[in-house]
Amino acid sequence: GKDIEEHYRHNLMSFFREDGLSYRRNTFTQDVIEEHQSQFVESASMIDQRAVILGLTTWLIATGDEKVKAAADKHCAALKRIARKERDSWYYPASEYTKTGWPSFDAVHTRLTVDPAAMWGRQIGPLYRYYKLTGNKDAYELAENFTANIIYRSGVFNSDGSFNSALGYRNGHFHTRMGTLASLAYFGFDTSDSSIISFVKKSYDWALTQCTSFGWTPGDMHDQAYEHETCTLVDAIHTGIILAQSGYPQYWGCVERFLRNHLTESQLMEVDWIEDMDNKSMDIPKQRTYYKVAQRLRGAFSGYAAPNDFVYDGKWGRGHIMDVQTCCLGAGTRGLYLGWSNIVTETRGRVMINLLLNKATHWLDIKSYMPHEGKIELDINEDIPELLIRIPKWVPFGAVEIYRTQGERRTTKTGRQTGWVKKVYMKLGSAVKGETITITFPMQVRKTVEKAWTLEYSVKWCGDDVIHIDPAGTYYPLYNNRKVHKKTPIKTKALVRSQGGLYI
Ligand SMILES: [Zn+2]
Repeated sequence: GKDIEEHYRHNLMSFFREDGLSYRRNTFTQDVIEEHQSQFVESASMIDQRAVILGLTTWLIATGDEKVKAAADKHCAALKRIARKERDSWYYPASEYTKTGWPSFDAVHTRLTVDPAAMWGRQIGPLYRYYKLTGNKDAYELAENFTANIIYRSGVFNSDGSFNSALGYRNGHFHTRMGTLASLAYFGFDTSDSSIISFVKKSYDWALTQCTSFGWTPGDMHDQAYEHETCTLVDAIHTGIILAQSGYPQYWGCVERFLRNHLTESQLMEVDWIEDMDNKSMDIPKQRTYYKVAQRLRGAFSGYAAPNDFVYDGKWGRGHIMDVQTCCLGAGTRGLYLGWSNIVTETRGRVMINLLLNKATHWLDIKSYMPHEGKIELDINEDIPELLIRIPKWVPFGAVEIYRTQGERRTTKTGRQTGWVKKVYMKLGSAVKGETITITFPMQVRKTVEKAWTLEYSVKWCGDDVIHIDPAGTYYPLYNNRKVHKKTPIKTKALVRSQGGLYI
């Protein structure tokens, strides 16, 4: 895949123009352009600039290439130059910038704007990430002043935290609003600004009331309401992680449910139901391909998954739309990484197990038997001054049992005999290298009725995993093939050495 990666890198660079911005090319037919009652003028979309800085930053982290840093610095300088600045509140007066400036003199003059979340709210996180990597002052200034605009001037979020659903605010488009919340949370957490965190929390709490508890999210609050994007789910996971790290550890429960359910289910693992061709006779080079698409899509994330199906049937809302779209593909992969990298974290000598998922770390190895059994095994790899483990809120804390083995010494305790932090983490005290700790608790099977906008689903849970959904999906049904065993099936896989590391 190195040659393909190289092609992508080359392509990304080819969109830059002299002014430092990334420009879109015309891919529309004349009919479509005429239908828009407009002319296609090559322009730099403010939606795209967010993805551009995100991509350049990742590229720079991976390679340290000075040419990439130069492009990113120039990009940030350009964004700062074109932003309209009113004291601490910065914004863009249009969705796109052209070679001759902002497209409408009148819009700039009368201080009109477009949807703030889509155009600059979501830029905050990627810009701040670039600042963290390089110390670029323009990126910091943009992030800080866009934050001030979003919170105090934009009107994107209503005072009760709900999304403004007006047409001028993209009908409360969830993907761009959740991306803005994740951006604000990231900036607020890192700059120790609790006013930003409490702003995010209020809106996130409202947003969760619009989502199912397994991670399906609405597309917007009108015609796109039924179009869940993996992107939105991943931004919801990211926001939940930051809130959990900001003094609200109860959000780890939500993060674990979203990871275990709609994120993992939205990854395409079986492809035998997809029709494709084993020759290129139908292909139109650089435009359309039918050649082995099923196999080539394996591992991709859904573009618009329904609550019960990889494919959204389009009966409600705008109609059928893409099964896979590349924004969601990149986001899904990021979601897996965000989850994986936060299973265990360490702060001030305190090692915290936040998510009950398998992971090998230098501190300890976690073997999770969930959802089959309420059992977590910890093999301690080095002395840990203080170890904490999150216990799900559906577990009666008195029913938790802790078995510790250190050489010949064995001890047993219950959840009543140990300390807790914020009713979320159970304290395991210090742990020593070579020790094994087994934690058991009863699994809870329960049923919920979940609302996906106007549609209702009956959902059966085992712990934090959805194990059945009714009605069932049609094309690539989600959840209903999951099995819960009395005894956890153990898979052993050999580790493979690649690029200097060991991988499954
Ligand atoms: Zn997407």
